[in-house]
Amino acid sequence: MTAEIISVGTELLMGQIVDTNAAWLSKNLPLEGISLYHRETVGDNKERLSRIIEMALKRSDIIFTIGGLGPTSDDITKETVADVLNEELVLDDDSHKILTDFFKSINRPMPENNIKQVKFPKNGHILKNPVGTAPGCVFIVEDNTKTEANNKYVIVMPGPPREFKKMYKDEVMPFLKSINGNKETYIKSKIIKTFGIGESTLEETLKDLMKSTNPTVAPYIGNGDVMLRVTASSDKETIACDLVSEMENKISNILGDAIYGYEDDTLPKIIVDLLMKKNLTLSIAESCTGGMISKEITDIPGASQILLFDAVTYSNQAKEKILKVKKDTLINHGAVSKECAKEMVLGLKDLTNSDIAISVTGIAGPASDDSSKPVGLVYIGVSYKNNTNIHELNFPGDRQNVRLRTTLTALDLIRKLII
Ligand code: ATP
Ligand code: MG
Repeated sequence: MTAEIISVGTELLMGQIVDTNAAWLSKNLPLEGISLYHRETVGDNKERLSRIIEMALKRSDIIFTIGGLGPTSDDITKETVADVLNEELVLDDDSHKILTDFFKSINRPMPENNIKQVKFPKNGHILKNPVGTAPGCVFIVEDNTKTEANNKYVIVMPGPPREFKKMYKDEVMPFLKSINGNKETYIKSKIIKTFGIGESTLEETLKDLMKSTNPTVAPYIGNGDVMLRVTASSDKETIACDLVSEMENKISNILGDAIYGYEDDTLPKIIVDLLMKKNLTLSIAESCTGGMISKEITDIPGASQILLFDAVTYSNQAKEKILKVKKDTLINHGAVSKECAKEMVLGLKDLTNSDIAISVTGIAGPASDDSSKPVGLVYIGVSYKNNTNIHELNFPGDRQNVRLRTTLTALDLIRKLII
């Protein structure tokens, strides 16, 4: 079944309030096995609302309207749907009694306007609203375009989020299940986290897998990394799980060690865990990142077991005094150079004797140093056992981005080294 959401309200259209209801509903519909294909927002205007409803009826099986169920003259949603469908609204005695009792309980006369809140389509259902004055309702529309005698539905719901969510959970969900033949739909998903491959390269690499409709594979940009979400649905839970793990295997065969983790994993967490498991120690010397790498590592509980030493050697003086970088190196090649990164990492190793040492030096910008080197140029030195490698990298973006990319890349180099 396909669905469409129409949010009604001039304040929504003007951006005075944010459409959190539609976002919430969009997340919930797939869990009922319903595909959401369209979402629109329209002001409190009968003419324009009618046109949208007519259009939605042509292309969607279930149409949700949100808002415009209040008692005032700009609350026109239910009446507009009724007009479009040529459906009569009739007073519901039970709802009427609840409403009059409510006004009695607050000791106020019921305004005449409120009567319209308790009128509902003859051919339809009432959706109770125990936390507000406006019940919702379902209009049942016989659909002649389908060969089977299937119906379409317009589900009319109130705008206040508390009322909206409660009505969805208590009234709409059971209704959706009933029109779905009370079949359960199991949705399983898994997040696969990658580092070092850009979003577009990832899409290109997984082009064929991304065409799959069950499970679906969708990339998301994270904070410097790229995630893939694999989602499968089935009326059997085990089938949904199997579909996800089959897809996960295919992706993992293609991406290999570009995958650093799953679900809530983060690069620092993976690294601290790996170092602890392998009983390895780490030391860090940072220039352009000014302690960001250490911060990421020390955010993880247990870091004290693996982190031997971390130094922010931002100035040349610190590089010379602590890491024993040669003055000549700094004069001839500059602090941002392969040579400097190498002396930093070797000096660090000598000083700490850790299993792994890592050094970072670069130009974070916005201006370059007094050489002609470009902003974003970064050297990362990594030393493990008797191997020392210096990586030259060029990162785009502003100071914050260069520092973030440098931090994550340094962490990822450590990860690749240990696996
Ligand atoms: P009322 O009886 O309060 O008039 P209603 O069903 O007529 O309710 P609206 O008048 O459209 O609904 O909206 C009432 C309030 O509900 C809005 O001022 C806003 O705070 C909130 N609201 C409406 N629509 C949305 C939405 N799509 N997302 C989030 N909040 C919403
Ligand atoms: Mg209103």
